[in-house]
Amino acid sequence: MADTSIEWTDATWNPVAGCSIMSAGCTNCYAMRMAARLEAMGVEKYVGLTRKTGGRAKWTGAITLDEKALTVPASWKKPRNVFVNSMSDLFHPDVPTDFIRKVWNAMAGTRRHTYQILTKRPDRMAQILRGMVLRCSRTSGSERAWRMAAYSTALMSFAKCRQRSGSSRTSP
Ligand code: SF4
Repeated sequence: MADTSIEWTDATWNPVAGCSIMSAGCTNCYAMRMAARLEAMGVEKYVGLTRKTGGRAKWTGAITLDEKALTVPASWKKPRNVFVNSMSDLFHPDVPTDFIRKVWNAMAGTRRHTYQILTKRPDRMAQILRGMVLRCSRTSGSERAWRMAAYSTALMSFAKCRQRSGSSRTSP
């Protein structure tokens, strides 16, 4: 959760840490190496997330959910581009749907920011977003229209990405 040198964003925000390798595109995962470094520096959130194998850090598959991090975007008063989970994949199968909803609520409550979410698990993302659209369509209130639009936009982005990739199995 910090300002970052990544050129396409202003800040990283990590309510989740930890992942597991799922494709060849994960081989040189920056987050995996960084998590090992942070653990070596004694940062508790990253303890047990990686192990050394063949001299390299590799994810163990353990996931840390950081409830305290959920309030961080609200503390940023000026609008920012925010890279969500630079140290994980929000749609990893071991991140509970309820926690993903909490992350989404934190984003919904801080609409001055622009959130950037990368995932290699687009199928789970689509499934969860569809569920959110359905739940939202059964509610009322001032937030409803905005939420419906936000979920639908995310789903449309997903569909366009799928079209471009020309495959139902390709990750971004
Ligand atoms: S999905 Fe992303 S965070 Fe997870 S191992 Fe692959 S590249 Fe790393």
